[in-house]
Amino acid sequence: MKFATKAIHAGQEPDPTTGAVMTPIYQTSTYWQKTPGDNKGYEYSRGTNPTRKALEDCLAALENCKYGLAFSSGMGATDAVMKILKPGDEVITGNDLYGGSYRIFTKIFANYGIKFHFIDLTKAENIKSYISENTKMIWVETPTNPMMQIIDIEAVSHISKAHSLTLVVDNTFASPYLQNPIDQGADIVMHSVTKYIGGHSDVVMGALLTNNEELYKQLWFIYNACGATPGPQDSFLVLRGIKTLHLRMKAHCENGEKIAQFLRTHPKIEKIYWPGFLDHPNHEVAKKQMRGFGGMISIVLKDADLAETFRISGSFKVWTLAESLGGVESLINHPASMTHGSIPKEEREKVGVVDNLLRLSVGVEDVDDLIEDLKNALG
Ligand SMILES: *Cc1c(COP(=O)(O)O)cnc(C)c1O
Repeated sequence: MKFATKAIHAGQEPDPTTGAVMTPIYQTSTYWQKTPGDNKGYEYSRGTNPTRKALEDCLAALENCKYGLAFSSGMGATDAVMKILKPGDEVITGNDLYGGSYRIFTKIFANYGIKFHFIDLTKAENIKSYISENTKMIWVETPTNPMMQIIDIEAVSHISKAHSLTLVVDNTFASPYLQNPIDQGADIVMHSVTKYIGGHSDVVMGALLTNNEELYKQLWFIYNACGATPGPQDSFLVLRGIKTLHLRMKAHCENGEKIAQFLRTHPKIEKIYWPGFLDHPNHEVAKKQMRGFGGMISIVLKDADLAETFRISGSFKVWTLAESLGGVESLINHPASMTHGSIPKEEREKVGVVDNLLRLSVGVEDVDDLIEDLKNALG
């Protein structure tokens, strides 16, 4: 089946008891057992719930793989992945990451004896000199948040496979509509479902998808044992959101391109980062592994100190200044003080997260209104 059909049907059958076409919200914590252990496949909702199961099967289908697990947030999903490691293990990851990923690695898992190398992954060969006998995992985010670096998943997967490492790809920025890392050799795909997949800024959720049965069993054990699993109401909302994922992503890409082109020549813009530009350093890789360039754009304002950057980011009427991304509405974010506030200033500035950087999540409103608002705010 193709993407749009899977988005609407995968994992979802009419309800066997009533024929309800939409998956019901099974608002129950527990399930009847005829005699101990003789049940209908459900025992307790931390481990399994039918609404969540329908969502997990749909998400797995969208990432072209067999197994899906939904978590109560993207960070809950990341936490579960890290718990397959042991003290002494090492992880190689990028130097531009979602702030919360950097925070959980350095402030939580480093305390449990796991070592992280934050390196430039835009050239996959860079990885080789960091591999030791303790290396167990490569964690890739692409496109990266907020610098829009593009990492070559296939090239990284060759190195990962040659050393029997687990390659995890945070696919949040692309969504499964634009990129399927499992097809490029990744072992686990992670999503903040909160963003494009949910798509309506009304749910916080995460997911892990894999084709590897052994990894799935390990991750399911952690998911059930640690318990960061989402409830049926949120699962229902995401199932509903997914039904338009393909339509929304097309609109995000279209609006994103028009806004990137508009901003590129605007006198108030010093730099612009968007993988669709021919002169983006890894444009060719983006073209190879993505089916579109998405609606995420970062800009550096010309001659703007922090006060001027704050003034501009507060003067929009259609765009909303807020954390998060990937919803139908257009959002502006100031990474240095908002999403990436937990990364030390000198660390973030090394990769370009400067005080006058703004990140745009282009929504699906009429693009003329979005451009008009940008014109007014930028002056
Ligand atoms: C938001 C985000 C996360 C964290 O997800 P939550 O759902 O907020 O916990 C992880 N990675 C990326 C790239 C994100 O944008």
